[in-house]
Amino acid sequence: MWNRLATVWQHDDSRQASRWDADRAPGLRLVLLWLGMIAPLFVVAVRMVQLQVTLRDDFATGFEQTYEAREEIPARDGRILAADGSVLAGETERHELQVHFRLVQEPADASWIRREALKQLSRLERRDKPRVVAEETRVQQQREELWSRLRLLTELSVEQVAAARQAVQQRVAQTKQAVIKQREQREAAYGNGDSLTSLGSGAGWQRAWDRVRSELTQPPSRPVHSGPIAEEEGFHTIASPVTADTKSEIEAHPDRYPGVRVITLRRRAYPQGELAAHVIGTRTPLSPQEASARREQQLSGNARLDEQFEGQHSEQRDDRAGDRVGRSGLELQYDSHLHGQRGERRLVKNRRGEVIHSEVLREPQHGRDLVLTLDADVQRRAEQLLDEALANVTLAGTTDNESHQDTAREATCPKGGCLVAIDVHTGAILAAAAAPRFDLNLLVASDANGWRDVLADPRKPLFSRATQMALAPGSVFKIITAVAALESGKLNADAPIYCQGYLDRPDQHRCLTYRHFQTGHGEMRLADALCRSCNVYFFTAARRMGPQTLADWADRFGIGQATGVDLPSESHGRLPSPHETEAGQRRRWHPGDTLGLAIGQSELLVTPIQMARAMAAVANDGQLVTPHFASASGPATLNEGPSFRPVFAHPEARPIEGLHSSTLDRVREGLVMVVHDSHGTGFKTVKLKDVTIAGKTGTAETNGADHAWFAGYVPAERPRVAFVVVLEHGGSGGKAAGPVARQFVSSLLELGLVTPSASLARE
Ligand SMILES: [Zn+2]
Repeated sequence: MWNRLATVWQHDDSRQASRWDADRAPGLRLVLLWLGMIAPLFVVAVRMVQLQVTLRDDFATGFEQTYEAREEIPARDGRILAADGSVLAGETERHELQVHFRLVQEPADASWIRREALKQLSRLERRDKPRVVAEETRVQQQREELWSRLRLLTELSVEQVAAARQAVQQRVAQTKQAVIKQREQREAAYGNGDSLTSLGSGAGWQRAWDRVRSELTQPPSRPVHSGPIAEEEGFHTIASPVTADTKSEIEAHPDRYPGVRVITLRRRAYPQGELAAHVIGTRTPLSPQEASARREQQLSGNARLDEQFEGQHSEQRDDRAGDRVGRSGLELQYDSHLHGQRGERRLVKNRRGEVIHSEVLREPQHGRDLVLTLDADVQRRAEQLLDEALANVTLAGTTDNESHQDTAREATCPKGGCLVAIDVHTGAILAAAAAPRFDLNLLVASDANGWRDVLADPRKPLFSRATQMALAPGSVFKIITAVAALESGKLNADAPIYCQGYLDRPDQHRCLTYRHFQTGHGEMRLADALCRSCNVYFFTAARRMGPQTLADWADRFGIGQATGVDLPSESHGRLPSPHETEAGQRRRWHPGDTLGLAIGQSELLVTPIQMARAMAAVANDGQLVTPHFASASGPATLNEGPSFRPVFAHPEARPIEGLHSSTLDRVREGLVMVVHDSHGTGFKTVKLKDVTIAGKTGTAETNGADHAWFAGYVPAERPRVAFVVVLEHGGSGGKAAGPVARQFVSSLLELGLVTPSASLARE
């Protein structure tokens, strides 16, 4: 053929070929046509061969090797530390060993074994039946070897591993059954819907049209899908917890442990259990519903951002289900400070799931530590004292307040108690103890039984008493009555007022001594009246100055207002005013209300933290501080570097307007006598040899048993700590709260927070 073609060309060249000549060689035309058709096919064929043979491996490996995945980088939440650096809230890690379901399954799934075997073989080898069978045996063998390696690594027995695998398999089987059932039900429901749409219309063409339309608009009905469910293609926990060594061994040798991984679970932990439980509060994961609600809230721009404290994050947060958020206490208050923000990593993996490239897209931002002013030892001691006092409370008669009826009161169980101690100059809270309490770990460890007990306890262990409990202060309030009367100019501290035991009539507005002994206190000066808690003296003072002056001074001492303490949901208490209207109706203010207010009754309600602040103001010469838990500086023992140092600027102490030192001097004189004069209501129960204590007892009348109060400060000569003890329905302030106050001050001395008075005098 080629020869003939050559001669044709030759023939062409030698003589100028005419149309005639061409016509005389039809073979040439056919050959040219044939070439024109075959040549492109030939090119395609060559290319196909090249693709199949030469380039195949390049493409195949390219397809097999890279797929991309995104992975979250977990962030740590900040810790909450006491002033000495001891951890009150931190994190624990638990490692769980997980194995892919196909490896857990016993006996192994035959089609899975086949797939795994084929993966290891080339195309050619796959056609070789005996070769495939041999490879399947090898896969099975590798599977068994893996399990014996895992047993060795985790030190679990054959039985333990078998039990764990069986449990997983059972669980997955149950899930699968449920899923299939659900699918069947859905199919059935879909079938019904379909038949309904084809009913209805009358005319034949209309029915036909409806049929066509439903065919076009509805997805085709598929047979019930019985393929693998997610659990069959996922990882399952086989051992938990496993050691960090196990984790690193598995991560370092992915080839030795195919289909095995170790996940690390973090959760909030409260190593001190009940200590300061109400203050610390809780941090638990968001449910999916909560997470989506939060996102919507953020989108609508209503996100609650804690911007009242400097140094807090205020960027938009990407809260997802499972993220932990503060729910109460300091965990809530300083959530944005403590909250860690997860990072993100891009991974490039090969088909076997091995990471061949990783790149951090966003670094995780760990939450910052929160250092408290709370002294762990003082707090612990305060809690012990409260617990002991509440266990011992017996309802004794009252000693220092007489405004209630003589009728025997029904004994009620004491509900709880509270002890708050603050630095008189800065407002730093040293202790905020409440009883009863609860173990914070109950919440994070989902201990349902323990939790039920806490909720069922009638004493309300969850109630954050220091800042949320508002009670009548009783005679403790006489301190403010004294200041108001002196500052109004209506009372001379040195001019005696005669107490006959009652104000006007022997059956009302009496002193306690009259109730017990039918005698009055006699001639009283201010200091004596505070010392012996003479009601008649303060009734007289209140009458002279009137209710408005009294309410005004209570307001200046912060009664009826939030103190601004850094805990959520602080109670304002209640300061009744002679001018107030209640729910639109003006309530008449009776003269008896003025007398009641003077001795801390009427409708007056105060929180322990409010009373501690008022006491600090008496001690520090009239400065109203802002009580706070977050330390402004943090302890020197932390070595995380300056970025971890919190910078919390608490409001500065502000002077109480119009309050004179001379007034406070006269009041303080009386408060020392309460404890150190033999007539004082705190003499028997509060006095200590080593340190001068100033304070005031209070026995607040209630519908049940009285509330017992003691509020004071130490050392009286150079005040450092103001404190308040209150026992709900604890009875007499002197008898019930007094001993707690005394032991608490002893603890302050022992712990070196307060200097003995003798050494102060020597200085
Ligand atoms: Zn009296």
